[in-house]
Amino acid sequence: MSTSPAWPFDNSYARLPARFHARLDPTPVAGPRLIKVNHALARELGLDPDWLETPQGVAVLAGNAVPEGAAPLAAAYAGHQFGHFTPQLGDGRAILLGEVVGPDGQRRDIQLKGSGPTPFSRRGDGRAALGPVLREYLVSEAMHALGIPTTRALAAVTTGEDVFRETALPGAVVTRVAASHIRVGTFQYFAARGDIEGIRILADHAIARHYPEAATAENPHLAFLEGVVARQAALVARWLLVGFIHGVMNTDNMAVSGETIDYGPCAFMDAYDPGAVFSSIDHAGRYAYGNQPRIAQWNLTRLAETLLPLLAPEEEPALEAAKQALAGFGPAFQDAYLGGLARKMGLSDQRDGDAELTQDLLTIMAEAGADFTLAFRALGDDAALRTLFADPAALDAWLPRWRARLEDDPQSPAERQAMMRAANPAFIPRNHQVEAVITAAVQREDFGPFEELLGVLARPYEDQPGAERFQLPPKAEERVLATFCGT
Ligand code: AMP
Ligand code: MG
Repeated sequence: MSTSPAWPFDNSYARLPARFHARLDPTPVAGPRLIKVNHALARELGLDPDWLETPQGVAVLAGNAVPEGAAPLAAAYAGHQFGHFTPQLGDGRAILLGEVVGPDGQRRDIQLKGSGPTPFSRRGDGRAALGPVLREYLVSEAMHALGIPTTRALAAVTTGEDVFRETALPGAVVTRVAASHIRVGTFQYFAARGDIEGIRILADHAIARHYPEAATAENPHLAFLEGVVARQAALVARWLLVGFIHGVMNTDNMAVSGETIDYGPCAFMDAYDPGAVFSSIDHAGRYAYGNQPRIAQWNLTRLAETLLPLLAPEEEPALEAAKQALAGFGPAFQDAYLGGLARKMGLSDQRDGDAELTQDLLTIMAEAGADFTLAFRALGDDAALRTLFADPAALDAWLPRWRARLEDDPQSPAERQAMMRAANPAFIPRNHQVEAVITAAVQREDFGPFEELLGVLARPYEDQPGAERFQLPPKAEERVLATFCGT
């Protein structure tokens, strides 16, 4: 028997003016059952993972109890969804319990997703189905293990209630941990209302939490915009380097902290295809793999528009400052992307001709439909690499060019191999494997495959003897052609 321990709450978002949020508790569910507690993350947050697994802990994770010191709320935000602006979205099925400050001094949001209706639910039921909850858990934790800034998953529970989508599905709640849930769309919410004071309060709050160095800059709000631009450019570059496709890069799904957020119809690419699209609702390919840098910049432009009144008293200089900050995106992205590609290729510096050398490899991969992850992991092992190309002629012509370039690189072979292994994961959450995990859980209440895949994805850069099957791309009949929105 353990009594409810004190959570290290300090709820700064709840202290913002009332128009920033709606205060309400999660809606209790009929039959909470624990799927998983993330022990390592719980400890980082200063929470007791064993207590979270007790009935009282599970009650909190399901929204049936609220811990002492929480200040539950649904945040207001707006957003451009597939290019169309909605002035009010908000947390329609999520409740922020509060912010904890961990033993490391870091402040992080703890949010229940799938925790019942809120004033922002519009026509939705406020709930989440088990499949999307497991996908968010797996993919966000895999991204973290890959070293990519992301929200995390602290826990998942089933609710004992059905949710109705096309059919009845088991309901679930995921406990999400984030540096914050402040989105580009949160700024748009106040901008749409002409609430410049709201924008200022939000920007200052975001600066204090995520860009403290901006507070002392000559123009703090401009420094904030520059900071968000730089982090998003680096983030999207990291996505491309592992073949990640977010799927719904709406402005309400872009966090100003620079973390990847809102895992809905996301996917990792198998065969390399810059035009790859997975989301079943992305008919125009707006959020295709190769379009993500452009869309990030589009979203950042929407953020910049909301900040204009803070950047300068006059319109012209404000516009000029915003344009300059946005112009930083291209170089920052190129720098992170080309630097990352160089590491994937085992090059310790970048020289003239490298970008072309890399682009030629990508072109050959695209033409052959070679598996992106396997091909980079096999680079250096010609026999293994050749098996990924039905007709290896183009590859055979390219390899000597790469080898000649390596001759020029100062690293020792061992250093090079270590660099390449750290840049080229062996394991990514492949869509067909995520789907198989979801099917086992939803149809057979079997969470063994979830546990197993989660364990493998925790060490993506290591060879894991016995786990080779998780490296494999889908067979023709296993291929997942579309992923569905996380609703
Ligand atoms: P998403 O596509 O998950 O980013 O969600 C877009 C908006 O719809 C957000 O405001 C969500 O809170 C809301 N939403 C999504 N699913 C539901 C649901 N089942 N019930 C209520 N609101 C929802
Ligand atoms: Mg969202």
